[in-house]
Amino acid sequence: MTYVDIQKEKKMIDNLLLSILACPFCKGDVFLDQSKIVCKACRRRYPIVDGIPVMLVDEAELPENTLDIKNEK
Ligand SMILES: [Zn+2]
Repeated sequence: MTYVDIQKEKKMIDNLLLSILACPFCKGDVFLDQSKIVCKACRRRYPIVDGIPVMLVDEAELPENTLDIKNEK
């Protein structure tokens, strides 16, 4: 398997995942940005670890130019 094939396969998996994933914080649609899953609504960025999206609010990165609307604990 070539590098390109692996990338293609990863992309297919990503597209499948993206179609079923939603932001756990606001239930918004998500899209893939480089190696992160990004919420279209609240812009939280979820890491992908070993090809598996970590859809946890606590693991999400907040964009710097956005108010921190994270749930208070
Ligand atoms: Zn969101």
